[in-house]
Amino acid sequence: MADPKGFLKHGREVASRRDVAERVQDWDEVYPDGIGRALLPIITTQAGRCMDCGIPFCHQGCPLGNIIPEWNDLVWRDDWDGAMDRLHATNNFPEFTGRLCPAPCETACVLGINQDPVTIKNVEVSIIDRAWGSGYVRPQPPEWLSGKTVAVIGSGPAGLAAAQQLTRAGHTVAVYERADKIGGLMRYGIPEFKMEKKHLDRRLDQMRREGTVFRAGVDVGGDLTGDQLLGRYDAVVLAMGATAARDLPATGRELGGIHQAMEFLPQANRTSLGEEVEGQILATGKDVVIIGGGDTGADCLGTSTRQGARSITQLEIMPRPGEDRPSGQPWPTYPMTFKVSSAHEEGGDRMYAVSTQEFVGDADGNVASLRLVEVDAKFQPVEGTEREIPAQLVLLAMGFVGPEKEGLIDQLGVDLDERGNVRRDESYAASVPGVYVAGDVGRGQSLIVWAIAEGRSAAAAVDAYLTGSTTLPAPIKPHERPLVV
Ligand SMILES: Cc1cc2nc3c(=O)[nH]c(=O)nc-3n(C[C@H](O)[C@H](O)[C@H](O)COP(=O)(O)OP(=O)(O)OC[C@H]3O[C@@H](n4cnc5c(N)ncnc54)[C@H](O)[C@@H]3O)c2cc1C
Ligand code: SF4
Repeated sequence: MADPKGFLKHGREVASRRDVAERVQDWDEVYPDGIGRALLPIITTQAGRCMDCGIPFCHQGCPLGNIIPEWNDLVWRDDWDGAMDRLHATNNFPEFTGRLCPAPCETACVLGINQDPVTIKNVEVSIIDRAWGSGYVRPQPPEWLSGKTVAVIGSGPAGLAAAQQLTRAGHTVAVYERADKIGGLMRYGIPEFKMEKKHLDRRLDQMRREGTVFRAGVDVGGDLTGDQLLGRYDAVVLAMGATAARDLPATGRELGGIHQAMEFLPQANRTSLGEEVEGQILATGKDVVIIGGGDTGADCLGTSTRQGARSITQLEIMPRPGEDRPSGQPWPTYPMTFKVSSAHEEGGDRMYAVSTQEFVGDADGNVASLRLVEVDAKFQPVEGTEREIPAQLVLLAMGFVGPEKEGLIDQLGVDLDERGNVRRDESYAASVPGVYVAGDVGRGQSLIVWAIAEGRSAAAAVDAYLTGSTTLPAPIKPHERPLVV
């Protein structure tokens, strides 16, 4: 057990972010010298708040089943290598989740019943950042090769987790990605200020040294057909994400200056790292309206702030959540509460319970303003609440409706489920033999932690398919959603 009286002596403390005035001038992570370093002075004490509750609900809260109390204890005892081994046993990429996970483990923490929960996510990122810094994280190439080949389509967290597990199990794995660089949404969706790409590149380097082969710039279904893929490989893992964005078919949608978030963010990610993008969509000097109140919307907000927007308004059709758990979402479930991301700290206005009625254009055919109306609990317009706000740039961040069907999915002829995602059975197998499914392409729009958990589980199923048995861990079943009400 960590410090037996830690939770009695110490309150919850998190790392301080850099001053807003300073950090909006650059694209670096919002913590000074990286979050791992920022946490060093406090993290041992914070890990010591874990009270060895006996039935650690945080395990259930974490889709990866991270063995949280064990690594809290090891950190408190200053055994950082031991903590790293425990963490890597369940999570291939703690540097991603430690920065980007919404930490459902913390809302399930037993200490959280009547006190502030343990800072689990911070302990996680401290362990991995320290391990990278000390050289403890090294490639783990397989000791023997099975002679079996696997193609992984898509290089987001699901594809990467599946690829790393299968490579280490001795299979020859190629990861195909249609973008010019590997990483999925972690490369071109999530901005640098949330996770610097150097963390991704360092992990990819480890994977290359273990033997995983990466093929970027290959659109599977176009450059390489489904038949060619099945002919060349013993097994295929579809990890193509849910990249079809939800649109807003309001009057004026065709006007210039209205873009999907995933048209805007990838360009900003490129330019923030020194690339040039011709005709870049820019928020500079504009009144920006972001439609959608989730993670993607917050990323558009932080990006627009850094580009020097004149004003930024984020619209959300749902009512403003409360500060406390709603009664229908009791501990240890993951509650819908009001959240303030680093981007929200930096500025912008948020409007809740509003719906867009129309985009209004100027003489040149570009959007100039947006007409909105307040809505009631049934999303019906409230009479007399219509108003118009200026908008020369509108970003649609309303989520994703599933994977793109044209191309590979059509060519393979895999069955889809009722939500339009690729159907899989309890072993992550698609309806076509030898084809497996992991991450958002099967689950629908989700989170990095789920994608890694599914990638690990699908890898176990592929290993069993190729060799008849497996010792790879399978943390989660395809349809499981523990502690989500
Ligand atoms: C802007 C944004 C911010 C987010 N922020 C967070 C966050 O802070 N925390 C969090 O937990 N989650 C976040 N998410 C969600 C998270 O990124 C996803 O749930 C996760 O990346 C899904 O992983 P995946 O591996 O299933 O797919 P993806 O990461 O979507 O990767 C799929 C890859 O497959 C490639 N691909 C598709 N079709 C083909 C093809 N035919 N041939 C070759 N390649 C193909 C795509 O180009 C893509 O790179 C965010 C999502 C967005 C859009
Ligand atoms: S991956 Fe997410 S849920 Fe799991 S321990 Fe880390 S922060 Fe918590």
